[in-house]
Amino acid sequence: MKIMPNRMDRGFFKYQEEFESKAVEVLQSGWYVLGKEVSAFEEEFSEYTGSKYCVGLASGLDALWIAFRLLNIGKGDEVIVQGNTYIASVMGITINGATPVFVEPDEHFGMDSDKIEEKITGKTKAILVTHLYGMASRMDKIVEICRKYNLRLVEDCAQSHGACFNGKMTGTFGDVGCFSFYPSKNLGAFGDAGAVVVNDERLAKDFRIFRNYGSEKRYYNKVVGANSRLDELQAGLLRVRLSHMKEITDEKVKIAERYAREIKNKKIQLPTLLEGATCVWHQYVIRCEERDRLIDYLSEKEIGTIIHYPIPPHLAEAYQYLGHKEGFLPITEHLAKTVLSIPMYNGMTEEEQDYVIDSLNEFK
Ligand SMILES: *Cc1c(COP(=O)(O)O)cnc(C)c1O
Repeated sequence: MKIMPNRMDRGFFKYQEEFESKAVEVLQSGWYVLGKEVSAFEEEFSEYTGSKYCVGLASGLDALWIAFRLLNIGKGDEVIVQGNTYIASVMGITINGATPVFVEPDEHFGMDSDKIEEKITGKTKAILVTHLYGMASRMDKIVEICRKYNLRLVEDCAQSHGACFNGKMTGTFGDVGCFSFYPSKNLGAFGDAGAVVVNDERLAKDFRIFRNYGSEKRYYNKVVGANSRLDELQAGLLRVRLSHMKEITDEKVKIAERYAREIKNKKIQLPTLLEGATCVWHQYVIRCEERDRLIDYLSEKEIGTIIHYPIPPHLAEAYQYLGHKEGFLPITEHLAKTVLSIPMYNGMTEEEQDYVIDSLNEFK
């Protein structure tokens, strides 16, 4: 049996008729950018997350960098971010000229809230939290630290659509919740797409203006903005997916529960959740000291896996200018050498799950 790390086609076929009829509807409408599908999606997604406003954007990276731009965070400012995040989180900071200050993760892949305060300086302006792999981070503590030091809080929710901490949805704890709808994300479009959720009306308006060349009224440009609009077609297709979000999430939770119950191998460490946190299992990430040998073993059995991520941002070539060397973040660096995402996707059959579980249990 051949198993790929992800099967986005299955997520399409499950709701094929709905996707196809929505696509045709938008194509026939004659209106393709910033129309009624975008407005409707923004309304439905803000309701879904429990925030007041949603603004659709072109990607998750845009959501991040525009967020910092609109919060006036740039050159000379520092933003605290976890070392083990996807590089886009860090780019959201550095595109604006601000400096990322890295913090090590805790046992659950989230920012270690006990290690934040020691990193705060007079230049610290914000904390950027990534709810990595779909797990909510320790938001009670992080919110408390932001209040104590008067810091802005931005959440990278590109992997955590629907994940909650103490019953409150990720993306709604701070100033801006940044979402990506890249096709492989839990709420995936069929191309690039993103959004922010905010509670502040003014900030919501600033995002609307910025995404459209800095104009509120056509050809009257208030600020130097960007072209970062969510397409009508993607918004329409996202509305279809969003209407099934509970089912999509529950299915992944079920697979994760099976994995947790049935994968039993001393060489493999399974992911665990923080108290109060839920996980939507964007990825199911195991750890193994002999990770690279495990990859070879699985690939011989035609089970595809991915490393999220093999090179932590502080060691990426792009960030050599920050001057961090190997050994700077030992926990993050060790994770990069031991984590492995095993197949986890909507539409994964029981036989496929069995095969993954049995194969992992037989690894010696
Ligand atoms: C996917 C992702 C992004 C970037 O989103 P794009 O839509 O690809 O720009 C940012 N942060 C994290 C954690 C991601 O997983």
